[in-house]
Amino acid sequence: MLAKGLASVACVFLLFSCSVRAPGSKKDRIVNFTQCILPADQGKGSFQGAWAALPIPVVFDRDFYVADNGEIMNSLRGSVTTWNTWAGLRGMRGAFSIINDGTGNTSGRDIPELTDCAQASYSSSVTDAVGIWKIATSGFHKNQRDSCGTNGKILPDGVQGQTDWIIVGGKIVGASILLNFEGFNAPGKQPIDSESLLLHELGHVLGLLHSCNGSSGDSIDGTTAPHCGVAREQYVDAVMFPFLEVSQNRRNLGQNDYNRINCIY
Ligand SMILES: [Zn+2]
Repeated sequence: MLAKGLASVACVFLLFSCSVRAPGSKKDRIVNFTQCILPADQGKGSFQGAWAALPIPVVFDRDFYVADNGEIMNSLRGSVTTWNTWAGLRGMRGAFSIINDGTGNTSGRDIPELTDCAQASYSSSVTDAVGIWKIATSGFHKNQRDSCGTNGKILPDGVQGQTDWIIVGGKIVGASILLNFEGFNAPGKQPIDSESLLLHELGHVLGLLHSCNGSSGDSIDGTTAPHCGVAREQYVDAVMFPFLEVSQNRRNLGQNDYNRINCIY
């Protein structure tokens, strides 16, 4: 990793690259919420880094507050609450604070309208918070963009959500999340659980890489964790498992998520 650099992680829909059993078929019984227990086969290379301080301010796309009478926003808020509950167990005030909660436009705050294709532009466009964009079919939210080249999309087919970090001197100082509401959760497209998806992406924002390496296909995770095809059951059941199936819910942190996040904060 460069001293100052950008890296992206993609979550892709489970296609045919991963031969593991269906995740979540057997629920974790959590026995450790607050201790750092980093498995040797995941290692510190399964972390992207850490923020200097929590909670991390986040700004949600105003569209989340408007669409479906705010139903999506309620769902997304649930994932913030789950991470905040973890932070509380660690004696911290919270993991994330939503600075435009309520109306989506508190104190004039909203995410900027960008036409760029590179997600790095999104990360750097909000300097005091992490922006969470709804990528959709039309308007400035449009997934397909001229700036991405012919038939190009900012979120390629199969990518449900993507996190990008700004890293300076080994510390995470900025990030952005793009959620795909064009290829998923749109009319005629596959439904996926928004809360599970954002819970995963917020895990990336905090500095977690995937619980296992699924990069035989579209998942660019760069983690030192083992390949998902040979990963332990706990890694497959984790929120940070790189694949989310249609209609699957993964709204609670798994044992492996607790074991690792407690090593970062
Ligand atoms: Zn991911």
